[in-house]
Amino acid sequence: MHGIRSQHMETTKITEKIRRVEGTIAEACARAHREPGDIRLVVVTKSAEIEQIEEVIRLGYNHLGENRVQQLKKVAGQVAEYLQQHPDDPALPREIHWHMIGHLQRNKVRQILPTVSLVHSVDTLRLAEEINSSAARLGLSPRVLLQVNTSGEPQKYGVPIGAATHLAEQIETLPHLKLIGLMTMAPLTRNSDIIRACFTRARELFYEMRGEKIVGNQFTELSMGMSSDYEIAIEEGATILRLGSAIFAG
Ligand SMILES: *Cc1c(COP(=O)(O)O)cnc(C)c1O
Repeated sequence: MHGIRSQHMETTKITEKIRRVEGTIAEACARAHREPGDIRLVVVTKSAEIEQIEEVIRLGYNHLGENRVQQLKKVAGQVAEYLQQHPDDPALPREIHWHMIGHLQRNKVRQILPTVSLVHSVDTLRLAEEINSSAARLGLSPRVLLQVNTSGEPQKYGVPIGAATHLAEQIETLPHLKLIGLMTMAPLTRNSDIIRACFTRARELFYEMRGEKIVGNQFTELSMGMSSDYEIAIEEGATILRLGSAIFAG
């Protein structure tokens, strides 16, 4: 009894939270004269229980993200099993798009490619080349984002701003992957000017690459904005938000 009741309270809370997030996204879009339909919400499941993830999927969300390879494979397997067990449920999406949002080691590339829909974290040529050659062997054509270090913090992953254009040019020559945009993370700070400056840099770099034809027409995505800063990210042009704790925490 107690287990059932607490699970029910949990799922209701998640529904409430995700509705609140949608409202906040709509308000930020209104301020920025943008359409909520132009912004993709990736639900980051790294801190969620499987029952909570199932609840989110039942609400129609089918873009999910994880930052670790083993966890992504495990949760993707659990979710696939859940969908198989409910083949006739019209509320459930038929397909889940998995986003690898965390640092990716080259020796893990091959295991993740068959599951993943978008890799957000390509930041070296060696990693891009590994994805390219694994994709060729697997007969895949994965989509990737170039992760850019817009904060200048040395401990952060991501290619430095000054090296990003050259790396994008090199990645563009690789035939078995598709470079479709940029990803960045702002530093953990309450100072919204610092956060906004990072997102502005990413947006400027994004348009510069497009303007100078360093990248192709498929280069359309700007992945930025987490639970603590997604309103600013929307105002600065984000097309993909990666939200975890705003949906699952507390
Ligand atoms: C965990 C994580 C997120 C989500 O962070 P929240 O603050 O929980 O929304 C987004 N992006 C990356 C790369 C992450 O690792």
